[in-house]
Amino acid sequence: MRQPENIVTPDAVPVVSYPVVVLLVDDQAMVGEAVRRAISSEPGVDFHYCSMPNEAVTIAERTRPTVILQDLLMPGIDGLTLVQRYRNHPATRDIPIVVLSTKEEAVMKRAAFAAGANDYLVKLPDRVELIARLRYHSRSYLSLLQRDEAFRALRQSQQQLLESNFELQRLTNSDGLTGLANRRHFDEYLDAEWRRARRERSQLALLMIDVDAFKAYNDTYGHVAGDQALRRLAAVLQDNCARSGDLPARFGGEEFAMILPSTSSEGARLIAEKVRRSVEALDIAHTGAAIGNCLTVSIGAAVLWPKEGQPSARLVEVADAGLYEAKRYGRNRVAMG
Ligand code: GH3
Ligand code: MG
Ligand code: MG
Repeated sequence: MRQPENIVTPDAVPVVSYPVVVLLVDDQAMVGEAVRRAISSEPGVDFHYCSMPNEAVTIAERTRPTVILQDLLMPGIDGLTLVQRYRNHPATRDIPIVVLSTKEEAVMKRAAFAAGANDYLVKLPDRVELIARLRYHSRSYLSLLQRDEAFRALRQSQQQLLESNFELQRLTNSDGLTGLANRRHFDEYLDAEWRRARRERSQLALLMIDVDAFKAYNDTYGHVAGDQALRRLAAVLQDNCARSGDLPARFGGEEFAMILPSTSSEGARLIAEKVRRSVEALDIAHTGAAIGNCLTVSIGAAVLWPKEGQPSARLVEVADAGLYEAKRYGRNRVAMG
């Protein structure tokens, strides 16, 4: 599309400032001189000349032309072979190529375009036509580069958006202190797994884990140490989630939960017992507690086959009942609800 002079494009690149960088590849110095003279008075046109066909691609790589003027007849190498070389080289692949031929010949033209040339001029072309074509090809090349750059930037920002959304999702679902799933995510996940278990007629297990005498721990060691202890307990829960479907979560305060899909009572008890022992093995000193001298947890476990019309909260109630029993029987133990 033609644009009036001095109009500013959306990228704020003034149209008039499109640079034109010409590389002429021709073994005849006379042609080189004639073209140089023809375009020397043109503003904003850079001219490079190469008389050695074998150096053409290297020089094009260095001078980064916006258009190449390529002689078709040169000693030692066919101009069309050179056109193909530009096309096969990543740095020159898209640069417009105007071939310079000695005659107007249909066969030659067909071969030139088939090799990848963009235009065909008979030597020596009229000055006005030459400049018009050089400007036209340069501009379309620069537009192509701008478009490619815009696509690249678009792809990059789409990727960034994807990553930000992913991160946002992660933050929305995770607990700030421990990094485990937060209560919101726990509720959603439990509901989804509950429905799946009903569909697939499988059992669903839940562990409710409560830190023993944690109020006393805070009172003795302070809330900062309390937070640190919660983080270490969270890591234990994470380590004990062996299957990808298992979800450790912070239920609230010093209460945690583990959702264990397709897990039997024996399995749930085994995992609960392992968690309880792992916490004990952390050996976090807790002399403020009336019970023992290290930080422990009580765990209530529930395993249900979801029934039609039964809400997922039923599983929490049953696990809570188990937790109540574990506390009542002296803490640092597992009880089935
Ligand atoms: P029990 O053995 O019966 O569970 O006794 P407990 O002291 O653990 O139970 P209680 O519910 O009386 O106290 C829970 C304590 O957990 C009180 C509260 O300050 C502490 N707590 C809850 N959330 C956090 C937290 O994010 N950080 C810290 N440091 N403490 C917390
Ligand atoms: Mg509690
Ligand atoms: Mg507690």
